[in-house]
Amino acid sequence: MNIVTLKPSKEKSLQRRHPWVYANAIDRVEGKPAQGATVLVRAHDGRFLARAAYSPHSQIRARVWSFDEAEPIDHAFFKRRVQRALAHRQTMVRNTGAVRLIFGEADGLPGLIVDHYTADDGRGQLVCQFMAAGVEAWKEAIVDALTGVTGCPNVYERSDVSIREKEGLEQITGVLAGDEPPETLIASENGVRYHVDVRNGHKTGFYIDQRDNRALVQQFAQDRDVLNCFCYTGGFSLAALKGGAKRVVSIDSSGEALALAQQNVTANAFDAARAAWLDADAFKTLRRLYDDGERFDLVVLDPPKFAPSREHVDRAARAYKDINLTGFRLLRPGGLLFTYSCSGAIDAELFQKIVAGAATDARVDARILKRLGAGVDHPLLTAFPEGEYLKGLLLQIA
Ligand code: SAH
Repeated sequence: MNIVTLKPSKEKSLQRRHPWVYANAIDRVEGKPAQGATVLVRAHDGRFLARAAYSPHSQIRARVWSFDEAEPIDHAFFKRRVQRALAHRQTMVRNTGAVRLIFGEADGLPGLIVDHYTADDGRGQLVCQFMAAGVEAWKEAIVDALTGVTGCPNVYERSDVSIREKEGLEQITGVLAGDEPPETLIASENGVRYHVDVRNGHKTGFYIDQRDNRALVQQFAQDRDVLNCFCYTGGFSLAALKGGAKRVVSIDSSGEALALAQQNVTANAFDAARAAWLDADAFKTLRRLYDDGERFDLVVLDPPKFAPSREHVDRAARAYKDINLTGFRLLRPGGLLFTYSCSGAIDAELFQKIVAGAATDARVDARILKRLGAGVDHPLLTAFPEGEYLKGLLLQIA
């Protein structure tokens, strides 16, 4: 049997049900656990704490499967976890063909992301990211559980994420079950049709986490001039068009993303003349728009992760401040700013401070109307605050 025994008093975080065991908390390892093997985690005095997956190459040396001593880690375990995750989504998530089915630690499956797309033509597609040794070792059982529980036969892997290198795993993509995905599938969300490229798009193809926020933009877009910065395939832009925006200007530096965005305009039969797409650097373009005297009633800023880890926080803070400062300046009186950060290393409090600093420098009085985050299919475990990554603010200037 593989047993990991912790140093004295290092059991506290597991007793609070935090699901990670750091290498420096471990006193000794008995047996020779292979990569991803199940280990018994014990306190220094020998008490059972958890069953976990062993990651020999990572500083996060083990990730907890279960705190229940009576629960074995086997095929049935993965089936139960997927069933529980699906039951939660079925009752809570509506009006969408794009749902996050498994959100890692929050669903008791550390290191696993699974998104479930249901295309308008009825085709189902699961897209997975295996980001830790444990879920990698149980891949077959997980794919069986996913297809069995959801009834969706098509599973595609998008484990082309650099975080796998910390686990000693190579990046990999490909079909895990069923058929090759189509070039793009069309999934509808709140009445808007979106092309999703699960093979080459970002992450699993679509930013599912922004669903509720797209709905908010849709709600407030009527007759407004909208600027959507870092638009990707046009999620917020399409929502604004659906909501009756007068004009939507969108910026992204990815030509491929913008090509899909324009296909999305066609797929929804929106008037293409209401939408302008700028293939350009957002930082420069925001300033240029300001200098040109362009002004908007609603601005969305949803940049990529500026702070991949703690060392990058200062530089990232300056980048967030830069775009938010210009974002505020581009607003007409009474205008709305939807601003986001998906950097886990920048918490909600710091993000709000950065945005407040940007408002001061832009010389506007900004009021927070709402604090924003990911949808209910991206739950946050109270014992695992690290799971919070997406935060946003809806502000209005005087
Ligand atoms: N808001 C989008 C997701 C944004 S992801 C949605 O809801 O779907 C971040 C996007 O920023 C990516 O599409 C990426 O191509 C783009 N990007 C990254 N750096 C950029 C830059 N300097 N200027 C413009 N776009 C950039």
